[in-house]
Formats: sequence, C-alpha cells, structure tokens
Amino acid sequence: KKDEVKGFFMKNAFVILTIIAVITGIILGFSLRPYKLSYREVKYFSFPGELLMRMLQMLVLPLLVSSLITGIASLDRRASGRMGVRAVIYYTTTTVIAVFIGIVMVLIIHPGKGSKDEFTKQQQIEQVSPADAFLDLIRYAPVGILFLIAGKIVEMDDISAMGGQLGMYTVTVISGLLIHAIIVLPTLYFIITRKNPFLFIAGLLQALVTALGTSSSSATLPITFKCLEENNKVDKRVTRFVLPVGATINMDGTALYEALAAIFIAQVNDYDLNFGQILTISITATAASIGAAGIPQAGLVTMIIVLTSVGLPTDDISLIIAVDWFLDRLRTTTNVLGDSIGAGIVEHLSRHELRVNDLELGNQTVDQ
Ligand code: ASP
Repeated sequence: KKDEVKGFFMKNAFVILTIIAVITGIILGFSLRPYKLSYREVKYFSFPGELLMRMLQMLVLPLLVSSLITGIASLDRRASGRMGVRAVIYYTTTTVIAVFIGIVMVLIIHPGKGSKDEFTKQQQIEQVSPADAFLDLIRYAPVGILFLIAGKIVEMDDISAMGGQLGMYTVTVISGLLIHAIIVLPTLYFIITRKNPFLFIAGLLQALVTALGTSSSSATLPITFKCLEENNKVDKRVTRFVLPVGATINMDGTALYEALAAIFIAQVNDYDLNFGQILTISITATAASIGAAGIPQAGLVTMIIVLTSVGLPTDDISLIIAVDWFLDRLRTTTNVLGDSIGAGIVEHLSRHELRVNDLELGNQTVDQ
C-alpha cells in the first residue's frame, strides 16, 4: 500500500510539482501585492519566469521543424494525406463550434449592458511583456511557472476593476471556454473513439497546467508532445505530424474568445449587430484564431481584424486588456486541449493506415 502511494507520487512528481507551483505562485503573488514593489523589483522577481518562457520558446522552432519532417517522412504519401485531411476537418469543426458557443454565451449573458463611461473609467492600460526564446526543462519548469504567475499577480492592476461589466465579461468567457473544454471536446472524443475522454485529459494535465502558466501554446508544445506520447501513448507518427500544425492554426479558445469579445465590445457601445454582422464576426474570428501565433496575448492583436470587419472601434480593445493576462491563460489551455484531443481523434481514425504502414515497415514502429 505504502509502495503504491510512493509509486503514484514518483510517477506523477512533475505534474504534482507543477500544480504546487501554480498554487504557491498565486499565494506568493497576492502576499507580495500589499508591498507595492517597484517596476524594477517586479522585473527582477519575474526573472525566473521570463527565463522559462525563453527556454521553452527557444525549443519550439527546431521542435516544429524536426517533428514535421520526421512525421511526414515516417508515413507514405497517401497515409499522410488522409491524416492531414482528417486533422483539417477536426480543426474546422471544433473551431466553428467554439465560435458558436462564444456567440451564444455573450448574447445570452449580455455582459456589456450598462454605461460605457463608467466602465471606461475603471480601466487602466496594462503593459504587455513580450517573451521570446533555451532549455533544460526537467525541474526547472515548475520553478519558472511559480514566478511567472506570482510576478503577474504582483504586477496586475487593481482587482476592483473586475467588478461590473468586466466581471460579467470574465464570467461569460470562462463559461464558454468551460463548455467547450469540458463538454464539447470530450463528447466528440468519446463519440469517435469510444474511449474515456477524461482519462485522456488526465494524461494531459501537465501540458494543461503549463499552458495555464505560460499563456503560450507554442511554448507548451514540448510538454504537449511528452504528455501525448508518454502518458497517452498516442502514436508518434500522428503527434509529430498533427501537433505542430495544430499548435499554429487550431485555436478553439482563441476563436471563441475573439467572437465573444467583439460582441461584448458592441454591447458596451450600444451597437446593435444584425445577423449578417454576427456571421461576419464568426468568419473573421475563425480567421483571426488561425492567424494568431501561439504566444501570449496574440489573440488580442488579431482582434483588430474582427472589430474592423463590422466597424467597431479597435481602441476599445483597451477595455478588455486589464483581464486579458488571465483570460489568455484560460483560452491557451483550451487551445492546447483542442490540439491534443485532435491528435487522439486523428490517431483513432488513422489506425488502418498506421497498421498498413507498420506492416510495410516490417512491423517496425518508427521511433524517431
Ligand atoms: N496565447 C494564446 C496561445 O498561445 C493565443 C491567444 O492570445 O489567444 O494559444
């Protein structure tokens, strides 16, 4: 019994450490807030977190390129073609569903009701810290995540701005993302594979927590690979082929967010949208999610496309900047979940091709 418990902790040490890091980061961040650290002090304090981001991001480009090459090289043209088609169908379907949920939620909850002046007064513009590209993940990741989160909490604006419309907006976004992540994606996975989606998601925990900590699906990519291949035993020919593409273009959370945010901004401006405009928002939100890079707050930048398409003021993005550092983490987690479930589904649908490929290779699974 004791050995079982010990075994469990040993096996899941990294996940447990990452979760402890998130919780400690939140507690540390809030306990330091009353001290009102200077900009410089906050920057020093956030340094271990920034270092993690740079390490992860430095790994991404070589990982993307090498995995795509090995992914394609290990499959014949017909198999990779079919797999590609399945992945694209999955990406399109789930993105459309996500946009639909975002629109329905914001129309039902209507968080933008109330006076704009009052709302604008509560807002302060937040600094967006750019993060670029080095690595020795094991151990370091939890430490980095702790400081990333604590640093952000120390730095964030007054939380009282969360009241009123912005608070309702936050609740609407969270509800939409939860419906997509906890109901839609697992149901889709179950219908297609007939396997337990929550066991699959449990294997992804470390990737999801890293997404939450880094706000970047690209930076999370090395961990997503690890979770899918090591915990969920998804075939490497599938992960290496579909994940790099998925992390770049398939962003369910971002699509849902962009549509929802645009309609929220319309509501704040008392601007009535007709059906055609809502349809335009769904199309541009999909395009904006495909165009957004998997880096922190990229979705906020591509929002410009969505707002411009229906003549909404792009300056009003500033209204939602105060909560974006937080909502970005949640949509990034949804993005990573969508890519991972996609890999599971594509593997299931491609099992025949994979078997044929195995036979052709003399039953040798490619291990690179
Ligand atoms: N941060 C998100 C991601 O990396 C993109 C976004 O801003 O929506 O997936």
